[in-house]
Amino acid sequence: MKLLLLGCNGQVGWELQRALAPLGELTALDFDTPGPWRADFSRPEALPALIGALRPDVIVNAAAHTAVDRAEREPELARTINAAAPGVIAREAAARGATLVHYSTDYVFDGSGDAPRAEDAPAAPLSVYGRTKLEGETLIRASGCRHLILRTSWVYAARGGNFARTMLKLAAEREALSVIDDQVGAPTGADLLADVTAHALRTLAARPELAGTYHCVAAGETSWFGYARFVVEWARARGHPIRVAPDAIRPTPTADYPTPARRPLNSRLDTTRLRRAFALHLPPWQAGVERMLAEVLGA
Ligand code: NDP
Repeated sequence: MKLLLLGCNGQVGWELQRALAPLGELTALDFDTPGPWRADFSRPEALPALIGALRPDVIVNAAAHTAVDRAEREPELARTINAAAPGVIAREAAARGATLVHYSTDYVFDGSGDAPRAEDAPAAPLSVYGRTKLEGETLIRASGCRHLILRTSWVYAARGGNFARTMLKLAAEREALSVIDDQVGAPTGADLLADVTAHALRTLAARPELAGTYHCVAAGETSWFGYARFVVEWARARGHPIRVAPDAIRPTPTADYPTPARRPLNSRLDTTRLRRAFALHLPPWQAGVERMLAEVLGA
């Protein structure tokens, strides 16, 4: 089997390089990959030639415009990268009988209420990022290609910057921290998403009728405040330098932190469909975060 991974240096892309390697002959590209091929999503018109030359059986797209606030200022670029480019890739996949794996987000929903959303809940994005990701989903479905769209939330990875690292830095420098407590979701590891992707692709090879849209997040839920407190107390308990006192991490509402893009308050996603279809167990969010912390702190 030939696999083409696009966006291979992002959080999820990096982990996919590891998880997809045993499945077949893997070509992993980003927009600045040295060599004859690169996958620049700001120029979707160049993608058919790339796919035509590499002739993959499976295309996994981890590239995206993920800068949620910046997308409000550059909606056309966000639309090109999050919708037009995946649309072109999906049409190529359909024409060649290839399978496309794509990632989407809980930001396609408006985040009202407090129940976990199922895959068929009505979409109502609040931001340019959410709208363009939804357009990408729609174009992929319309192409008729065999696809897996995995919607996820609050993705972190050991590599590069992340929310936990920022909180640890601030907790080492400051005496008090205020963290949003009215946005609720599940921190989800890029490694978990990559491993689920590899498992789902193996299953799909035998059962193509399982193609479709699924929600994939770690089990359980927390707020950014709960996430921050978990991370800081984990580090404190292991002797890392923490200045902030336990009761000086304070919950604060989203309204106190205005940002260019509106974010959903309820990021809960119902993963029942994914777990049943692919016989998967999704671990609690704390397990993945502890592992990431052990990696980044060397604990
Ligand atoms: P990252 O931002 O870490 O990775 C995205 C990748 O796309 C990066 O390698 C980025 O390169 C690349 N990219 C940016 N612009 C272009 C371009 N013009 N052409 C080609 N590649 C480009 O995102 P994640 O790994 O976190 O996200 C993976 C998927 O998961 C995305 O579809 C995202 O929408 C989705 N998702 C992410 C969430 C999150 O919390 N991060 C939450 C929910 C869904 P560079 O870094 O150099 O810009």
